Parts: sequence; C-alpha cells; structure tokens
Amino acid sequence: MSANPTHIVQREHLFSILDEAIEQSKSESSEFALLLLKIDQFRSLNLTHGFDIGDLLIEDIFQRLTNIARPQDRVLRYAGSEFLILIRHIQGEGHADLAAIRILAEFEDSFQVTDHRIRINPNIGGAIFPHHGRDSTALCSSLEKALVESKNSLERYFIFANKSDQDENLDWDIRSELKFALEKDQLELHFQPQVDLQTGQVSGAEALLRWKHPIRGYVSPGCFIPIAELDGLIHEITLWIIHSALWLISEWPANVDKLRISINLSPKSFEYEGLIESIHDTTAIFDTRPDQLTFEVTESTIMKDMNSAIMILDDLKEMGINISIDDFGTGYSSLSYLKRLPANELKIDRSFVTNMLQDDIDLHIVKSIITMAQGFGLTVVAEGIEDRETYQMLNSLGCDIAQGIYVSKPLPPQAFIEWLNQYNQAISQLATVTL
Ligand code: C2E
Ligand code: MG
Ligand code: MG
Repeated sequence: MSANPTHIVQREHLFSILDEAIEQSKSESSEFALLLLKIDQFRSLNLTHGFDIGDLLIEDIFQRLTNIARPQDRVLRYAGSEFLILIRHIQGEGHADLAAIRILAEFEDSFQVTDHRIRINPNIGGAIFPHHGRDSTALCSSLEKALVESKNSLERYFIFANKSDQDENLDWDIRSELKFALEKDQLELHFQPQVDLQTGQVSGAEALLRWKHPIRGYVSPGCFIPIAELDGLIHEITLWIIHSALWLISEWPANVDKLRISINLSPKSFEYEGLIESIHDTTAIFDTRPDQLTFEVTESTIMKDMNSAIMILDDLKEMGINISIDDFGTGYSSLSYLKRLPANELKIDRSFVTNMLQDDIDLHIVKSIITMAQGFGLTVVAEGIEDRETYQMLNSLGCDIAQGIYVSKPLPPQAFIEWLNQYNQAISQLATVTL
C-alpha cells in the first residue's frame, strides 16, 4: 500500500482490494458498490493555479471523500483526477444512487486551498457487484463505461445499466421518435476541442451530434445514427449537421474563427448523390473557408466502395476541404490503401489510446501508427486521451494533435466558446505550455 493515501493506487493493489471485497461479498451474499469520481477541470485548475495548489486540492478532495465514507468503506486515488469509493453492504442500486447524490452534494461547497477558492464539478460513474461484473476486471470496465456515460449524457452521475436491457428499451423509442427529432429541433451539435501537442494551442474542434430527448436527456449518436441509417433519415440529418456546423462557426467571435472544424460523415452519406453539391452550396451561403473544414470518414466507409469513395473525397479535396480518416486501426487497416486516399489527417482510434499506458501492445500500435502516418505526410490526431500521463506520452511520441476528455469533453456551442476563452487566458499566462 502507498505510504501516502493520496498516491495513485497501483493496478495490482487495486485489484487485490477488489478481489478481497468480492470474496467477502460472496461469503456474506452481500452487494457492494464502486463509484468512480472524476474531476474534468483538473487540468485547467493546474494551469490556472499551479501544480502545488493542484496537489493540495487533491489532498482536500481525498479528505472530504474520506469524511463522507463509513469506516467499512474505502477511498482510493484511482488516476490523476479520479477517485474510487468502495461502498460495502449496500442494498440495491438505490443505495449507490444515494451515495453518489450525497457526494455530489458535498462538492457543492467550494474548496479553500491557501488563498484560492475552488469550485469543483465532478462526474460519477457507478457499478455494483455482482450485477455489473463478477470479477475485478469486469467491474472496472462497467465502472468506466458508466463514467463515460455520465459525461456524455451530461448527467452528474450514472450507475451502470446492463446493455441488453437498455438497448431494447431505447430502440423502440428511437425508431418511433427519431423522425420527429429534426422537426422538433431536438438535435444539437457539441464541440470537442483539439489541441496542438507541440504548441499547446487549440487548433480546432470536432462537431459531435447530440439528440436532446425531452425525457431521456442526451442520447448518444452511437445509439441513433445506425437507426437513422437504416430508416433512411441519415441524409436529412447529414444536411442538418453540415448546415448547423457552418452556421455556428460563422457566428463565432473573431478571436475563434480561425479554428478548424471537423464534421463526421456517415458511410450512408456517400450514397447520397447531392452530397458534394450541398456542401458546396452551404459553404457559399455561410462564406466558409474550405480549409477551415475537415470531413472525417472511417476506414470502413472507404472500403465499402473504395472507387466511389475516392471520387467523392477527391471532389472535397478539390474544393480545398481537408479529409481525415477516423477510428484508424479498427477497420481493415490496410496500409496500401492509405497512399491512394486524398487524406490530410489520420485519427488513431480511442480504443488504442485510452489503454496505451496499461497495455504494451496498444502502445506499440500507437507508436507504429504515428510513424507510419507521418511517413505518409498525414497529421496524426490521438482521440480518447483521458489523463495527463497519456497526453504527455503522446507528446513525446511526436503525435500532432490531442483530443479527449483530459482536454475537455464535447461541449455545447456557448460552453465551448467560454471554455476556449478560459483556456487561452490560462495558457497566455504561461511562458511554455505544459499541460
Ligand atoms: P468519433 O467520431 O470517433 O467521435 C469520438 C467519440 O469519442 C465521441 O463520442 C466522443 O464524445 C468520444 N470521446 C471523446 N473523448 C473521449 C475520451 O477521452 N474517452 C472516451 N471514452 N470517449 C471520448 P460520441 O460523441 O458519442 O460519438 C460517437 C460516434 O458517433 C462518433 O465517433 C461518430 O462515429 C458518431 N458521430 C458523432 N457525431 C456525429 C455526426 O455528427 N455525424 C455522424 N455521421 N456521426 C457522428
Ligand atoms: Mg470522429
Ligand atoms: Mg473516432
């Protein structure tokens, strides 16, 4: 065990604590909950107040969590800005809900660190043994998924829900309601910043679709885009996305309007004959500089019908628009096709990035993709960066652009501009930028 309780718990130590809790629960036929608390703005707090204050804040947070916990519970520092709370002997999900609500309520009060008053808005993911995992690995995986769900849905906490129950439920509503979502103005575009790893400056943002459902809250595009593709609604949605993104950036203040904006194109949009003409017309309406735009396409989109995909991408390139290959590494990953594509950028899939410090194979894959892509003259973006260590490792590997919740989660348009102003202010106060 670490001498200092605020030291990050080593993976083996964490697993031995969880294994012990699992054995105990089995022998008593009891349940326990794990809550994972993450402070997203920790990076910018470090930038604004300095690392010494950041360290003191970590101690205070740890103390506040320990004060809430009962003697049989356990508080551990899980990663740079994440804490794990093990709550023994719970009776059902309601208890885990209560614990998460209690913790969030405690964080309503700001922290006083030396002469700085700091307010923290954490997110919490939760998982329960045995329902959400029968061993430590499965539990941790459910826990992390729940945390991501909480961030993506903008709920402050989220207890893991078994996928099968959730999907069945959701599918029904999505099918019947999606066609009204456009008319009822329920779609939104959020923006996730991208940072130039060498300079620390924000270089652009990815536009990510959100469906703000009146009852279900934010529904992830991963749930409804495949259904929109099946139901043929995707063309209308794609046009809406392009129109909204270009309109939003045309409204950006002058200090922001140089940022590049990336828009995802679904495979089905390639089947829509009017695509290029629509993009052409929309850039003309909003007077968009084509080099400010990047369209992201996945490997599988291209491989489905490579010749026609290349024709469309060539048309976009001719207009001066950038092309990015999204989720690289998950599809065919054939290197030979890369040189045939008119791409400028390649995005390493987040499944490799998120685990690269825990998994040697992922690290090796990330290194190889960077070397190979740069050899082809492509800009390399790493997405899914969740902590400082990964950010720094990618920096030292020579990766070009960083994207992930460590920098910021996707934000609604106005919040994105506010975040950007704060970020720019924080880095302008530093001689050299070290995130
Ligand atoms: P993508 O294009 O690869 O987008 C990146 C996804 O990773 C986003 O999920 C983003 O919220 C998530 N993400 C960002 N940082 C992190 C991180 O640090 N950790 C983790 N675990 N995840 C992170 P999102 O917004 O749910 O989008 C999922 C997918 O849905 C996108 O993957 C894209 O394929 C599709 N999608 C999103 N918006 C659009 C859109 O406007 N049009 C189309 N056609 N597809 C879209
Ligand atoms: Mg993308
Ligand atoms: Mg991606």
